[in-house]
Amino acid sequence: MRGFAVFIFFIFISSVVTATDRYLLVPDAVFDGESNQLHENWVVLVQDHRIIAAGARAEIDAQGAQIIDLAGLTLLPGLIDLHSHILLHPYNETSWNDQVLKESFAERAARATNHLRAALMAGFTTYRDLGSEGAGYTDVGLAQALEKGVIPGPRLLVAGPAIVATGSYGPKGFADHVNPPLGAEEADGADLVRVVRDQIGGGVDWVKVYADYRWGPKGEARPTFSVEELTSIVETAASSGRPTVAHAGTAEGMRRAILAGVETIEHGSDGTAEIFAQMAAEGVAWCPTLAAGEAISAYGGWQKGIDPTPARVLKSQRAFELALAAGVTICMGSDVGVFPHGESAWEMELMEEYGMSNIDVLRAATSVNAEILHMGSEIGTVAPDYLADLIAVAGNPLEDISVLRNVQFVMKDGYIYRAP
Ligand SMILES: [Zn+2]
Repeated sequence: MRGFAVFIFFIFISSVVTATDRYLLVPDAVFDGESNQLHENWVVLVQDHRIIAAGARAEIDAQGAQIIDLAGLTLLPGLIDLHSHILLHPYNETSWNDQVLKESFAERAARATNHLRAALMAGFTTYRDLGSEGAGYTDVGLAQALEKGVIPGPRLLVAGPAIVATGSYGPKGFADHVNPPLGAEEADGADLVRVVRDQIGGGVDWVKVYADYRWGPKGEARPTFSVEELTSIVETAASSGRPTVAHAGTAEGMRRAILAGVETIEHGSDGTAEIFAQMAAEGVAWCPTLAAGEAISAYGGWQKGIDPTPARVLKSQRAFELALAAGVTICMGSDVGVFPHGESAWEMELMEEYGMSNIDVLRAATSVNAEILHMGSEIGTVAPDYLADLIAVAGNPLEDISVLRNVQFVMKDGYIYRAP
């Protein structure tokens, strides 16, 4: 409730001060999204939704600007999570099956408004939301509500229902006469073209396909679609100007997705050195979703630092090392929703823990993710003409990545949602 009150307060303040519409942000230091080091004593001038100037204060004409004092804070581009689920909440609260089967779309949308607000207040100004998990096009409607200013939240790029091979996805385990709703839309063969077009018509920004899933004889992950099927999805999406993203955990699922031309691969914990070399060569980015792996292990009883590391987590650590060595473009994509919205910074802590430098983690969550979204000239960088998505954290994230959990200031699109 306190967070909500703060939010209302700053909406009020921002509506008052928007009259000037010109802010001079004065932090201790700035991470611009791309450089190797912080810029000490930089200031950032914002006007009419955009950054006008960034640099030494003496060089910037800030006449008429309202000064926002961010002493003790590091300013950086708004964070981007490339793998979220606004229509899911943590599985230790309610299992995925029960969320899909027992929660109304209205309840799920109501929860999503809380999730979106929590994400924004934690410094996430953009989400690529990868599947409504049984809630149809509710994500498209929420994105429209955000654009109209009905609710606060990150800019939202959505994947709608997502596409799965018939028989592969859940919920499962019902009597043969029961037809439960599914967590995604089934399609196969030539029908994939129609379903991709239908989802485009429904308003998706990205087409998401499950290149493998846990449908093997022993419940293990196995490939689903053929290369030809995946290629028809990618080509149909591309013809409308939309990229395709593939869920793939197995090496074979990843291989087929790469051949088909997807732009990002999600999870990929069984990726081999050869697969990651192919991804690097083809420019396919990888969202490792490390936090989801640790969250699910914890829900199963794992106590980090006390119990032995579970196989699932060891696989992700190994894959992360291989991908780093191969030079794959690594996204910051956490699968938030599996764990609480507003806690995506956990993914960045794990990227650092699994071997990435702090500066590369920061780049991944800002300019690298923006580039993957085809928005590299709009967001993810602090420079003139970029949208004014800016946050500030207490402390220096190059010394301690965990300061990203301590967000004190949030501006999106030039509007202030949180201030110290
Ligand atoms: Zn996911």
